[in-house]
Amino acid sequence: MKIGQLGEFGLIARISSRVGNSGGVITGIGDDAAVTALSPGMQLLTSTDMLLEEVHFRRLWHDPYLLGRKSLAVSISDIAAMGGIPRWALLSLAVPPDISLEVLDAFTRGFLDMAAGHGVALIGGDTCSSRAGLVISVTIMGEQEPARIVRRSGACPDDDIWVTGTLGDAALGLALLEKRAHSPVLTTEEREYLISRLLDPLPRAAVGRALAEAGLVSAMIDVSDGLLADFGHIAEQSALGGTIRLDSIPLSPAFRSSLRSGPASGHDLALAGGEDYELVFTAPADNREKIVQLMKRCGIDATPIGIVTPSPEVTAVLADGSRYVPQRHGFNHFA
Ligand code: ADP
Ligand code: MG
Repeated sequence: MKIGQLGEFGLIARISSRVGNSGGVITGIGDDAAVTALSPGMQLLTSTDMLLEEVHFRRLWHDPYLLGRKSLAVSISDIAAMGGIPRWALLSLAVPPDISLEVLDAFTRGFLDMAAGHGVALIGGDTCSSRAGLVISVTIMGEQEPARIVRRSGACPDDDIWVTGTLGDAALGLALLEKRAHSPVLTTEEREYLISRLLDPLPRAAVGRALAEAGLVSAMIDVSDGLLADFGHIAEQSALGGTIRLDSIPLSPAFRSSLRSGPASGHDLALAGGEDYELVFTAPADNREKIVQLMKRCGIDATPIGIVTPSPEVTAVLADGSRYVPQRHGFNHFA
């Protein structure tokens, strides 16, 4: 069945019939505006993201279920980076007429599974037809106590720079899909792991919230455009700089396998590759042990990778202290 037979309102009804009841939603899908209630004492966090076919994803590579998951995951990641609790989402779709209902159903299932996994309720959106590919726009709302919200602007000189998980996997996954990287040394599992980091990212929602609520971090951002670019935003907004130790950057076993055969600039994917959706945060050195303990409780690795500097420059250094200049830079839509 094609979407044309269902029509705009049929599609909205099909999506809304799958949405369950959730906390804080007073009026959900179906009125001119949704009505929600913040928890007492909380401030509202709002963020919006677009995903465009051929810009952010290819329908050929992206299984629609995973695309649905990722569409919301990247927004949850923004709330996580503020230390917030994700609550509500709006989903706007511009749909080319040739898309099958099975694809849209799988997309919706992925989106709603990701939502359920993070306590997010779908409360509305917009639906139109598209003449130029699938367009997905997601607005997310979250909440947090005012004093717990973590901004990009809070870093202090001599703070440690930390990162969760591992970096570079999603960028290497993309390179594998685009056949820019040939890694004969990778096993099938390693290849699949790297590609899944690109196609099915898991937002660090619990970790971001826990760090914020424990009051351990001074600034935070999620890695969507690449470590150097994203830490660069913390540096700029904190009017500081930073030194990142290349050999401290956490790399997955699969990423390390690919380095064995690849060029020396393989590290650039970890420095400048986007879409890992890990969290980069800064914290006073005194909090080191507490952060390690908190991460253990969250079951996530976090690694100190550098230090915030008073001079407003972000640099990467090799083990001998010499400066390393990467060949590539973070993602920029108009560069
Ligand atoms: P309006 O004409 O007032 O913009 P719509 O017909 O666009 O209303 O939407 C009707 C209801 O369906 C609204 O509650 C809207 O938020 C919701 N809605 C529309 N598209 C979607 C979608 N893709 N996902 C979830 N809710 C949607
Ligand atoms: Mg509308």
